[in-house]
Amino acid sequence: VMSRGRNSEAVRVVVRCRPFSKKEELAHCENILSVDDKLGQIAIRNPKAPPDEPMKVFTFDAAYGWTSSQRDVYDDVVRPLVESVLHGFNGTIFAYGQTGTGKTYTMHGVSSDPDRRGVIPNSFQHIFTQISRTQNQKYLVRSSYLEIYQEEIRDLLCKDNNKKLELKESPDFGVYVRDLSSVVTKDAEEIEHVMRIGNQSRSVGFTNMNERSSRSHAIFLITVECSELGPDGEDHIRVGKLNMVDLAGSERQSKTGAKGQRLKEAAKINLSLSALGNVISALVDGRCTHVPYRDSKLTRLLQDSLGGNAKTVMIATVGPSHRNHDETLATMRYASRAK
Ligand code: ADP
Ligand code: MG
Repeated sequence: VMSRGRNSEAVRVVVRCRPFSKKEELAHCENILSVDDKLGQIAIRNPKAPPDEPMKVFTFDAAYGWTSSQRDVYDDVVRPLVESVLHGFNGTIFAYGQTGTGKTYTMHGVSSDPDRRGVIPNSFQHIFTQISRTQNQKYLVRSSYLEIYQEEIRDLLCKDNNKKLELKESPDFGVYVRDLSSVVTKDAEEIEHVMRIGNQSRSVGFTNMNERSSRSHAIFLITVECSELGPDGEDHIRVGKLNMVDLAGSERQSKTGAKGQRLKEAAKINLSLSALGNVISALVDGRCTHVPYRDSKLTRLLQDSLGGNAKTVMIATVGPSHRNHDETLATMRYASRAK
């Protein structure tokens, strides 16, 4: 039996700063961030402010500087969440931040390099290793992979992936996506294959994969069902759901001069992200009686995996360069509001 703390313990918010890119180095970008991993603090300096202006300091559950490893992030914040999913609770991990700050690196990483594998492939390994160690339980692991783009849901594991799927609600299953594919896998290799198929499908039919991935939310969902023979001679089943979400880029689209279709699209991306922020801060607040899940597809879909008995981890990603000061500050404000 797991003991459950206050809501604020069920939601953990961490920030991760990536290293300078080659391009930023060549352009002699200035570092505006200072990370204190012991205190979980990040200080940010405004490059336009007078030199004596103090840095703004934000405190999170953890702060990771550019030397942090994928393993550090997994072991500190993801591992406990995945453990609780194996015990039948739901959980959600988000990567939130401006495009180019390391959301996909954190969630997926570099699959070919064991040291740079991200949250998603590391969770596969973790889940199947744990399962192989158990004796009196039977496990069924299913996965789905979907994308929310302009408030429309597409199945990334289905051949006809341009079909728009509907969100449904039933008294038995809660909120679910009708006709979403669900693939049973029996080991880490199989589930990795599923992930690769979905990743490929994210880019099919679109001229610019990066552009699309920065504008859509991708959710990899793993359902772990465990059946165990109880002392009463009956099978007991518990189900845990793990949602791993690579969010759309958080950059404000308005200033990029978007018009027409683009502007509408931008408004929808921002809608999901601001709805998510509102839901999380309502959950953290605890005194809030109304959690506004219904405001976006993303928050409706994740309703049973945010709040209640579910655990949530938000990994906010930022870059060190003075050029991104405004977006970096906006990300830290969003993340600290979630706290
Ligand atoms: P996003 O998904 O937020 O747009 P990416 O994950 O694609 O950003 O990262 C942008 C670039 O920065 C990639 O080349 C990625 O490999 C690199 N990168 C991001 N985070 C890190 C990190 N923590 N350590 C090393 N390289 C990183
Ligand atoms: Mg990305």
